[in-house]
Amino acid sequence: MPQRIIFEPSSMDYPLGKKIYEYFKDKPVAIIKAGAQNAARSIPGTTPAEKYAHSKRTLLITTNKLKKLDVCRPSADYQFSLVSNCPGHCEYCYLQTTQGAKPYIKVFVNLEDIFEVIKDHIQQNEGKTTTFEAASLGDPLALEHITGSLARTIEFFSGLEHGRLRVVTKFPHVDSLLNLDHRQKTTFRISINSDYVIHFEHNTASLDERMEAATKLGQAGYPVGFIVAPIMQYDYWKEEYDALFRKLKDRLGPELSRKELTFELIQYRFTAAAKELILQRFPNTRLDMDEEKRSLKWGRFGRFKYVYPKEQAEEIREYMTSQILGRFPEARIQYFT
Ligand code: SF4
Repeated sequence: MPQRIIFEPSSMDYPLGKKIYEYFKDKPVAIIKAGAQNAARSIPGTTPAEKYAHSKRTLLITTNKLKKLDVCRPSADYQFSLVSNCPGHCEYCYLQTTQGAKPYIKVFVNLEDIFEVIKDHIQQNEGKTTTFEAASLGDPLALEHITGSLARTIEFFSGLEHGRLRVVTKFPHVDSLLNLDHRQKTTFRISINSDYVIHFEHNTASLDERMEAATKLGQAGYPVGFIVAPIMQYDYWKEEYDALFRKLKDRLGPELSRKELTFELIQYRFTAAAKELILQRFPNTRLDMDEEKRSLKWGRFGRFKYVYPKEQAEEIREYMTSQILGRFPEARIQYFT
């Protein structure tokens, strides 16, 4: 439940904008009508940490007029957003920098326009199957109980011959999606990690809740996968990732464990800009951001990022691969980056 909802005036022209207003109008939240340019100013807090915490409990109800979608390699061909940002407070989150000084949560209400843009991109791809990531700039499941827009999007994709939807989440609110006519055109990937790494996440679902959500989605016939990100090396990292995959196999049960599950593996990385913001927002963070221990790699957002040196990265890749394939023989590791 957010603390304040800012409605951009044009958002009320759309059914979803009206629906969200109806949802909140009798609830104990501040409702503000203001343009997006005033949104950041209406968020309280004097220190960066306070501003950040209040922003994460602020929704801006707005529209998304983007006509050209960004590519989203390696996870999909393109990315689009139903929401941007999320109520989670993960210390390592790369949205720290991509959302910069505006870490409030945007909800886009012009779904039909967004769907048209998706159809255009499929057409331009000349009949080839085209994949779309809906969670690279936020986590739509975190707000699904308010918006219902992911359900609408899943049904939209079920009617597309050449479009496939991909969603990543750290939230468990899947019950409203289980009976949809998804036709296996939506793949859910549940974000999982070792106990140590999950200590850097706040306001997200527990690992048990995420595994339960994965099980429900798999039983409802959705293609299911897992993202392990960020993978960190620390004392006992091998033991903890071993325990993670053991637990996952146990929770999924024999039938789902034998399915073709996908795994995406992403090692921990940070940029200089991210480090600066993380230290302002989480001054006591214990994230290991020692540049001396890392290698520099050029990133697609036009910034250098710090990654594990080659030998360590290779050790992570080999260890995680053997853990996964040893337990899930039909699994496909889509990438390690
Ligand atoms: Fe970022 Fe995902 Fe954590 Fe939200 S749940 S703060 S999007 S890493």
